[in-house]
Amino acid sequence: MADVLVLVDHTDGKVRKSTLELLTIARGLGTPAAVFVGDGLDAAQATLAEYGAEKIYAASGPEYSEFLVAPHAELLAHLVGTTAPAGVLLPSSFDGKEIAARLAIKTESGVITDAVAVGAGFETTQSVFAGSYTVGARVTKGTPIVTVKPNSISPEAAPATGTVENVDFQVSDAAKGARVAKREEKAASGRPELTEASIVVSGGRGTNGDFAPVEAFADAVGAAVGASRAAVDAGWYPHSSQVGQTGKTVSPQLYVAAGISGAIQHRAGMQTSKTIVAINKDDEAPIFELVDYGVVGDLFTVLPQATEAAAAR
Ligand code: FAD
Repeated sequence: MADVLVLVDHTDGKVRKSTLELLTIARGLGTPAAVFVGDGLDAAQATLAEYGAEKIYAASGPEYSEFLVAPHAELLAHLVGTTAPAGVLLPSSFDGKEIAARLAIKTESGVITDAVAVGAGFETTQSVFAGSYTVGARVTKGTPIVTVKPNSISPEAAPATGTVENVDFQVSDAAKGARVAKREEKAASGRPELTEASIVVSGGRGTNGDFAPVEAFADAVGAAVGASRAAVDAGWYPHSSQVGQTGKTVSPQLYVAAGISGAIQHRAGMQTSKTIVAINKDDEAPIFELVDYGVVGDLFTVLPQATEAAAAR
């Protein structure tokens, strides 16, 4: 069976859950082959093998961190040329989508972004217009290149050999057009990563810029903090925390929306959460149409009570 290349999303070898989801999908399409770029392979190898990577193509060098994503796209294009894979899977992150687009141009292939399922023959399912329609699509030219939204499936372990093959590849000068000048280290909040958390507590315009009760409740239950676009656009919370159509997709066990009206673009990023709770002082807020539990009330009263109750347990 031909390889299915999976670009590994990691930080210093700590592999993100989205990669384990892609490896799980790849098993149904061919031989999962992880593409690991950068440092930390020793830390990642066992995890990648545990989730089904038969091979791990490894490339390292300063050019992959010193420049924006073009070297990654060039490396993947080289692997497409040398290994003739059945297809390439990448996470639907900002970087993943840009790499996919560049790779598609380099390999003269079709690209599909934001798939929520990939079936036999790389038949994809996309959820479009904020989840209003489901579209089936398939690449008809070149090597199928597909980005998959995080949390589209649950990762399943399936131990494989995880044999490492070092890739001998020189990144061209053309790919070194945009140098990274500075990386901002995120202040360590101690909270789980938004797309990987099993509980997410999000605040919206109803917080009026005061996220303290949202954060206090999140910390009491070990949750990540999310935000609506209204809260992000107002500068109250970073864009990296935005949930929705133009933010991140989350699918936790529990999603708590505080002071969020439930616009369709917000729903697009959280409606697949297992249990949804909303706190809103307007009993006609659209968010109440999709919740499992709704609390009609002021978040500045309800959240501190919930925090106290959670802390007491
Ligand atoms: P509002 O709609 O203003 O709702 C605030 C809610 O808080 C109200 O329901 C109110 O009753 C309640 N409230 C007020 N005070 C309190 C209180 N003290 N206690 C309890 N409740 C209170 N939005 C996203 O979130 N994510 C996206 O990715 C996104 N992408 C978009 C893409 C496009 C192309 C467009 C056009 C829009 C997008 N939006 C997105 C914006 C979206 O349409 C809404 O404007 C936004 O989600 C509204 O945010 P909100 O619910 O926080 O604010």
